Amino acid sequence: AQERYASIRDEPAQALCGTTISLHMNAGLIADLPSLAPSGADGVGLFRTELQFLVRNQMPQRSELSALYARVMDSAQGRRVAFRTLDIGSDKVLSYMKPNDEPNPAMGWRAIRVGLDKPGVLRMQLQALIRGAKGRPLSVMFPFIAAPSEFRAARAEWDKALAREEGLGHPLPVSAEVGAMLETPSLAFAPDSFFKEVDFISVGGNDLKQFFFAADRENERVRRRYDTLDVSFLTFLEQILARCHAAGTPISFCGEDAGRPIEAMALSALGFQMLSMRPASIGPVKHLLRRVDLSAAKQVIDEARDAGQDNVREALTGWLAAQRG
Ligand code: PEP
Ligand code: MG
Repeated sequence: AQERYASIRDEPAQALCGTTISLHMNAGLIADLPSLAPSGADGVGLFRTELQFLVRNQMPQRSELSALYARVMDSAQGRRVAFRTLDIGSDKVLSYMKPNDEPNPAMGWRAIRVGLDKPGVLRMQLQALIRGAKGRPLSVMFPFIAAPSEFRAARAEWDKALAREEGLGHPLPVSAEVGAMLETPSLAFAPDSFFKEVDFISVGGNDLKQFFFAADRENERVRRRYDTLDVSFLTFLEQILARCHAAGTPISFCGEDAGRPIEAMALSALGFQMLSMRPASIGPVKHLLRRVDLSAAKQVIDEARDAGQDNVREALTGWLAAQRG
């Protein structure tokens, strides 16, 4: 599939209206990194660090992790990599950690909740990231932040890790950004101060959608019932964008929908200027973005919404077909 889009690989995802969308790839294993160049990705918008923990049968050591993170940054050759700290719990269970029997794992003790309650692993990971960066710029984001206090506590761990590493004589990153993943509706309604204090927001669309519609992302029976292009969800995303724009905070969208061309177009039309997706999706998404006027697409969305439609998929596909015809 990448060959099909080879001719636009080095071209920007610039829409006809002039807006350029930055397309990044999702990754989690060293084996994913060779896709960076052929996909034409601007960077790694989501590096799921838990995959390294899931593929082994014992807790990795700090030195192994720092070597791994260094290799990831080496392969990215200066492009930005947003490292997401461990997102375990829910469907991602480590064989070497005591399983906890929870009635609702997706809403249970997972991700940053585990990281803050049992901070040993989080601390080790932050140290490993700093050591792996070896003075290079570093981006870190915390998963599943549902309240500003969780972000503040996680950031305090980050600050402590920096101080500790400095004390040990390790070089600190020349620049560092610390962000939050917005994956629960609660965070969208946090006070303004929260949006000002995070360095960036990454919308985890898979989880956000599951909690917005109260529809389990793992449950086939309900998963397809609600659509990202439902007006209610798009309106919600617009509000999140407005809050970030007002605070001057960069925002991106990762999650499977970013890799679906029509969805990616709608997200870009709403105002997302950075999308992160699996590498094979970058070509098809870029191909579509380069052929559309995003302000016109936004108008199609607004008109459908004003006309009382509860989903804009038909309006958008009809509009696209009319342009081709
Ligand atoms: C998400 O929830 O959208 C996300 C990117 O994280 P994950 O799919 O790993 O939960
Ligand atoms: Mg998630």
